[in-house]
Amino acid sequence: MDYRHVEFWQVMIASSFRYFVFAGITYLVFYVWRRKNWLHYKIQQKSPTSKAVNAELKYSMITLFIFTVVIYSLLFTSIRNNTRLYTDIHEYSVLYFFISLAGVVLLHDTYFYWTHRLMHWKKLFPFVHHIHHHSHNPTPLAAFSFHPLEALIEIGILPLIAFTFPVHRGVIAAFSLYMIVMNVIGHLGFELYPSWFLKNSVTRWLTTSTHHNMHHHYGKGNYGLYFNIWDRLLKTNHPQYEMEFAKVIAGRDKEPSVANG
Ligand SMILES: [Zn+2]
Ligand SMILES: [Zn+2]
Repeated sequence: MDYRHVEFWQVMIASSFRYFVFAGITYLVFYVWRRKNWLHYKIQQKSPTSKAVNAELKYSMITLFIFTVVIYSLLFTSIRNNTRLYTDIHEYSVLYFFISLAGVVLLHDTYFYWTHRLMHWKKLFPFVHHIHHHSHNPTPLAAFSFHPLEALIEIGILPLIAFTFPVHRGVIAAFSLYMIVMNVIGHLGFELYPSWFLKNSVTRWLTTSTHHNMHHHYGKGNYGLYFNIWDRLLKTNHPQYEMEFAKVIAGRDKEPSVANG
């Protein structure tokens, strides 16, 4: 590992840029600049403490450094020769590009669910996952607020993909964007989805902001990331999930002036 390599800092800047554009700007819009416009969309009515927000930022910075070390090692050192990453889209087909993108998202959802449940095991939780749960009322800045060991587990999906099946670098880029957008939505603290979202036979299989917010609020249940498949199959959704979603929506759709009062 040579920190003097320009590529190391390019990866660091790109990772930080992605975090600050998606999590940082969303935080500013929802919690600072336009705070009053969104109050009736808030899932937990109280505001997060500045101490919690500072911790989210601090641990996300450490995570960005750990992510950079892993991404740089995979892409810019001799390790790359052993991966199945490719750059010419015609090496496989355009169809394969999209199928592998869907496969990566599904694989990550499964990886996330099971590693997350493992980290909730009481013997691991105090050493690995407790930092992320310092945020009982998360903001988008909590997206990467992990203990360094958890950061390694989270980024572990990348080598798993890169060593397992052929994956185009565009798939990795698209997947990273999808991941940060969904991660920010999960930690947003505001429910923006329509009232029919959990009643529709397709969208009910997707997670909502309320879903992950309840995971932080109550500390258990609702372990999934993108899809509500594993939680439904294994009955690990919080028992009050659908009721809580309906309650948040009902409060939100009241007159804003009443809800804000
Ligand atoms: Zn958790
Ligand atoms: Zn979280």
